[in-house]
Amino acid sequence: MIVRRQKPRVYNDYKSYKRYLRIDFDSRCAYCGITEYRWGSDRNFVVEHFRPRRWFKHLETAYANLYWACNRCNDIKSDTWPTPEEEQLGYGWVDPCSPDVKGGHWIELSDGNLDPRTRQGEYTVEGLWLNLRSYLVRWRKERRDLLDDIDATLKTVERLHRAALSSMARSDADDLIRLLDLHRRLCERLRLEY
Ligand SMILES: [Zn+2]
Repeated sequence: MIVRRQKPRVYNDYKSYKRYLRIDFDSRCAYCGITEYRWGSDRNFVVEHFRPRRWFKHLETAYANLYWACNRCNDIKSDTWPTPEEEQLGYGWVDPCSPDVKGGHWIELSDGNLDPRTRQGEYTVEGLWLNLRSYLVRWRKERRDLLDDIDATLKTVERLHRAALSSMARSDADDLIRLLDLHRRLCERLRLEY
């Protein structure tokens, strides 16, 4: 779930919120999760209206309705909003800023595809082509494999360090602890940025 940390002042032009959104959304697309770095740059991202301007004109500059999204998700989502009938049946966009997103609207499979588990999940995976865009499926698989490798490496390194620490001079042991800490921080950064 995305939690906003910024409280910008009110602007008349929704594009003025760009610099706040980039921070609140950690430079990632709210919908597909791709990072600015992987999608070229922030120039390939736009200020997106979760509730489309066409149907919710009064929310055009409401910060809570503005999301940071890659231009592909923005194009594909466009003005689409569920009909009252669809809403009644439980269909609609998964809101990445809503606490209920934790409930898991889909499961990420080991091949990088998303397997929807709710009607909202189905609506979103299909409506945003989250499994149809091959680069997204590839990226999710790469990311998953990389994070698994990081976890496994970190565990092994920690085990080896613990074993080595017991037979080491104090100064060497301190160096080793510093290195391990650096290693942990680098892994965490990779996890956040990939
Ligand atoms: Zn996207």
